[in-house]
Amino acid sequence: MDQSKIGKFIAESRRARNLTQRQLAEQLSISDKTVSKWECGKGLPEVSLMLPLCELLQITVNDLLSGEKLAEENYREKAEENLMNLMQENAENKERMVLSVICGVITVIAVCALVMLASYLPLPVWVRVALLVLAVVTAVAGIGAAARLEVKAGYYECPHCGTLFVPTMAAYVKGYHTFTRRRLTCPACGKTGMCRHRITR
Ligand SMILES: [Zn+2]
Repeated sequence: MDQSKIGKFIAESRRARNLTQRQLAEQLSISDKTVSKWECGKGLPEVSLMLPLCELLQITVNDLLSGEKLAEENYREKAEENLMNLMQENAENKERMVLSVICGVITVIAVCALVMLASYLPLPVWVRVALLVLAVVTAVAGIGAAARLEVKAGYYECPHCGTLFVPTMAAYVKGYHTFTRRRLTCPACGKTGMCRHRITR
């Protein structure tokens, strides 16, 4: 999916309807920064906004995802291509999410095993210390790998404007989080809040 082409097409269609970014944003109950972000090719509208957006711009969702007004003859072909692209993107994200969980579980098991060995086996002190150091290294590496996979799996949804975005690794690691939410700053509206993690668009 070509985000910059889609962005230009949104801008074109908006101007053709004589709407400013602000007017379009108001009708969708989102911030004008979000519209500006789409038009710059820095993100796609989330699925729940696609229909109302297309209605306002008087285009179809298929036109929107193709980034151009489609002719009758290649409409079907494009529709299938767009659908496959969306599905593939979602499947890749699910795969990363599963890998991230597996990675986390393996890390926890390995660290527990190392700590148990170090605590309960009759070993010389230096071997115990070495095992504990190895446990710490495994924990750091494993959690790092799991986090790297998870940060790429899906998107975070801004609670203020509904924009979906992928946070930077630094923001992700620093952000206070619960199981499904993480405190992040939205790149579209600039507000900070507890953003919900979503695997699919
Ligand atoms: Zn926002």
